[in-house]
Amino acid sequence: MLDPKCSQSCRGCGSYAMSDHAHWRDACGVFGIYAPGEDVANFTYFGLYALQHRGQEGAGIAVWDGDKLHCHKGLGLAAQVFNEQVIREMQGSVAIGHVRYSTTGGNTYANTQPMVGESKFGPFAVAHNGNLINTNALRSDLEARGVEFHATSDTEVIVKLIEHQNADTIEEAVRGAMQHMRGAYSLAILAPGKLLGVRDPHGVRPLSIGQINGSKYVVASETCAHHVVGAEFVREVQPGEIVTLSAEGIESIQAMDPDRKSCCIFEFIYFARPDTHIYGKSVYMARLRMGHLLAQQAPVDADLVIPVPESALPHAMGYAQVSKIPYGEGLIKNRYIFRTFIAPDQRLRDLGVKMKLTPLRENLAGRRVVVVDDSIVRGTTTGPEVELLREAGAREIHLRISSPPIKYPCFYGIDTSARKELIAARMTVPEIRAHLNADSLEYLDIKNMVKAVGLPKTNFCTACFDRQYPIPVPRDMKVSKFDLEKPETTS
Ligand code: SF4
Repeated sequence: MLDPKCSQSCRGCGSYAMSDHAHWRDACGVFGIYAPGEDVANFTYFGLYALQHRGQEGAGIAVWDGDKLHCHKGLGLAAQVFNEQVIREMQGSVAIGHVRYSTTGGNTYANTQPMVGESKFGPFAVAHNGNLINTNALRSDLEARGVEFHATSDTEVIVKLIEHQNADTIEEAVRGAMQHMRGAYSLAILAPGKLLGVRDPHGVRPLSIGQINGSKYVVASETCAHHVVGAEFVREVQPGEIVTLSAEGIESIQAMDPDRKSCCIFEFIYFARPDTHIYGKSVYMARLRMGHLLAQQAPVDADLVIPVPESALPHAMGYAQVSKIPYGEGLIKNRYIFRTFIAPDQRLRDLGVKMKLTPLRENLAGRRVVVVDDSIVRGTTTGPEVELLREAGAREIHLRISSPPIKYPCFYGIDTSARKELIAARMTVPEIRAHLNADSLEYLDIKNMVKAVGLPKTNFCTACFDRQYPIPVPRDMKVSKFDLEKPETTS
């Protein structure tokens, strides 16, 4: 698939004037640092750089300078929103940052994060990764109490909830707000002199703590953002936990009883960077093992294994290792795709694929090729890719997908299509194979996908594959994405 997250210059949705994303996109990345004496804004900028793949629509940093809270944010990549002078002027001891892709609320400046609130315990700022599933109900309740909103995102609802708790500390206010929030949320919260890390009771989105030189701390959506600022991994923020990082060290409150752990398994398939660890498991190794198990489950006689660049590299490497079929490159990706203004007709869409991927004839001509990808969402770019390979002389094309067919939408912080747009919700696997004009098509099954990560299935959300939604989804949300015409009763 075309992969909007692989190149920091790629704007994903901006590549075409149409909805044609090959992958689902992350909702956001959060980063926070408590480090008196350090250039916390610069460190946060580095952290956002490491997390840029989790959101490219907006970026922001909030800093506590010991007296006031300063916030700078805007639309676009971190490198577009910040320059040297802006970072230099944001001096302080604590900072949080955010990279955004919108799920609830559109891509507007008002919805960029961090979002700032006021309270009797001082100003605070919130950066959120995830998606609340009861935003509408919470917002209506708050509006009925006279609360005014200026944005349309669920994060503003979280800020208002915290503001309107009858509490004496930020921790008490956050704990109070959590009692009302349903869904997925991993938060970095900046408050006077302290940094909070907060995770929903299911732990859907990752959030972990790192330590720099003993008394300085970070929280981040992915451990790859620890390394970039020289932090050592300490531990995950636990589901339902509020962690406070300050001059007192690490303090913890179990604000909500942890529910069934439901870490998003798609973090391991595609969302997270391969150099990240989640629940102690290497994302890279999980992807490599997915390739191993895919080769065992769906072998094929072929001459060459190629990845769809770049996200499927470890999956394809794993397939090649077990199948003993030589690994090579077959598609070269243009890393410098910016927004293009292409009319949404099929001919130009096909040209768009050619602009992003070029087949390597030297490796493909006359060969039977196994093409390994991590997932198929709509399938709209896979067909043109197969055609590219055929034009370059590939004799046979065998698609191997290292995750199961995606049949159901996500409600927990990933931008997903309506169900009718998911190719596996409309077609059987043989029909998809025929539609894509491949010689064969096989998907990794759920059991092997979970086995590849190395933790029991009860740790994961796998709802987009098996409809087992760990947090019941309100009907009004399901209607739009399931295209329901009449009420249904399942959660
Ligand atoms: S539905 Fe899929 S994408 Fe969403 S949290 Fe669950 S596993 Fe992740």
